[in-house]
Amino acid sequence: MNLVLMGLPGAGKGTQAEKIVDKYGIPHISTGDMFRAAIKEGTELGLQAKSFMDQGALVPDEVTIGIVRERLSKEDCEKGYLLDGFPRTVAQAEALEEITSSLNRKINYVINIDVDQEILMERLTGRRICKACGSTYHLVFNPPAKEGVCDRCGGELYQRADDNAETVENRLQVNIAQTKPLLDFYETKGYLRNFNGQQDINKVFADLDELLAGLQ
Ligand SMILES: [Zn+2]
Repeated sequence: MNLVLMGLPGAGKGTQAEKIVDKYGIPHISTGDMFRAAIKEGTELGLQAKSFMDQGALVPDEVTIGIVRERLSKEDCEKGYLLDGFPRTVAQAEALEEITSSLNRKINYVINIDVDQEILMERLTGRRICKACGSTYHLVFNPPAKEGVCDRCGGELYQRADDNAETVENRLQVNIAQTKPLLDFYETKGYLRNFNGQQDINKVFADLDELLAGLQ
């Protein structure tokens, strides 16, 4: 069960990743975790990555790809893996093809959780936080009883600057532009499977699970 998970911010990727890992016991490999582990283990590539990160610089592809190779070679990936946050570019995807072929752990599916932009905007801009106690609400999923007021302490609710419409819209556009060539790449390879992420979380997983059960 060799999988790559894709989806825009707010699509519910994290939730589905958790469900896949719970049911099938394959390791969830996110880029951040992978870097942290390599640095902690003090591998040569980990140390190289750290020196770039300490300078506030982007970790170059050759280092990132090396770390992915090391991670996917580990024994816990024998029955499969769920890659999340890698690849980000077609060049990385091509490198991943080479890695997974040489390890005999070729990708079965690239799972894309698809949600319309308007709905992502609604999900991503709806968060409100209490100024007094820090409780979080969501205008759609978890609204306070009285608009703008914290249920717990009566404090005033505000929207974080990161959650405002313009910032979220920009973040989405950057992500869409980055993701599009990757989706095209995987579509051509025949790995891409799209799932409707606008359904109930459990229904999304049921659809996904139908595909994954076929790999068992
Ligand atoms: Zn409060």
